[in-house]
Amino acid sequence: MTETPLSAAPPRAGLQMRACVLREPGRPPAVESVLLEPPGPGEVLVRVAAAGVCHSDVHLADGRLGDGRWPIVLGHEGAGVVAALGEGVTGVREGDHVVFCLVASCGVCEACRSGRRTLCGPAGAEGVAGNVRTGTRRLHAQDGSALQHGFTIACFAEHAVVSADSVIPIPREVPMWQSALLGCGVITGFGAVSHAAGVRIGERVAVVGCGGVGMQVIAAARLAGAGTIVAVDRRPEKLEHALRRGATHAVDASAGDAAAEVAALTGGGVDHAFEVVGAAPTMRLAWDALRPGGTAVVVGLAPQGVEVSLPAIEFLSEKSIVGSYYGSGDPVAALPGLVELVRSGRLELADMVSHLIELDGVAEAMDRLRRGEGDRSVIVIDPELAGATAGGTP
Ligand SMILES: [Zn+2]
Ligand SMILES: [Zn+2]
Repeated sequence: MTETPLSAAPPRAGLQMRACVLREPGRPPAVESVLLEPPGPGEVLVRVAAAGVCHSDVHLADGRLGDGRWPIVLGHEGAGVVAALGEGVTGVREGDHVVFCLVASCGVCEACRSGRRTLCGPAGAEGVAGNVRTGTRRLHAQDGSALQHGFTIACFAEHAVVSADSVIPIPREVPMWQSALLGCGVITGFGAVSHAAGVRIGERVAVVGCGGVGMQVIAAARLAGAGTIVAVDRRPEKLEHALRRGATHAVDASAGDAAAEVAALTGGGVDHAFEVVGAAPTMRLAWDALRPGGTAVVVGLAPQGVEVSLPAIEFLSEKSIVGSYYGSGDPVAALPGLVELVRSGRLELADMVSHLIELDGVAEAMDRLRRGEGDRSVIVIDPELAGATAGGTP
């Protein structure tokens, strides 16, 4: 299904634009002038308004998601306006406001047909290969060499060509510097609570890791009616923020036995413990915080090679541990409900954004993520569309 050879194909007439390119791991990504081909069959051109810098971008840039994934235009969480349609595209129109969906599914593989669209095999393979979900590459450096598309999206750029099923239309009322967060952090956190865990009214929940996604897990657990929500993190400012977003208790993981503290606060452990870090010690912490019969849900993206060990005797108490990827459901079906929560004011997104930055601020934003500082950095690529301007704190 590859229409354009992946090697140094001379690009068709396209547009010149600025994009944030990672040349190799360990070297900071930098803004370059690149060429973007027009959308092919089944693809759309999106003028990018705003994009969020996510920890997965950092993992990719640090080489922890595997070799050979560069040079690449980074970015997978964002929002924009459809600027042109490729051949045969239905379902979106020019001028639609959209958010990017980084797990666009093929619709025909076994996982898609069984309703587990986030496990779509063909779509996952295109993502790892650095292609658009349609199997092509539309990005070229000035010397004509092809550039990879970050997570099938590549939205740290003025424009993006993506598969038509990689965009989900949203109403215009939600400002795009906020809706940019919907397509990764929000969908991941809310789906983990509603699909992977199925949190019910009155249940006890712990959230280990209060970064961008962890905060969405807390908000989702509150809206699901959880009775007790224990936030666990090492940084006091994150714990304070978690309490403002609906956590009922906070446990400082930098000192003492955090799992024992969770157990003491909840009369013997929680029904659901969400791990939102992606590291072995925090997965073990989530397991240890469970009461008998409880389930640990691993949401955090662990780098390749990480292994976790568990005390097997505790399977006798019917504890379980499951993974959750990108909300464990059908993102296209889930998104309208999440947008409605934002539009009606029941889900606050503005307070998740700590920095509004320019495209050339990505490297610095990634360093903040590595240090665990601040919340989301959102790149304002088109201030008018985004409804915000870059520069400091919103
Ligand atoms: Zn992400
Ligand atoms: Zn599929």
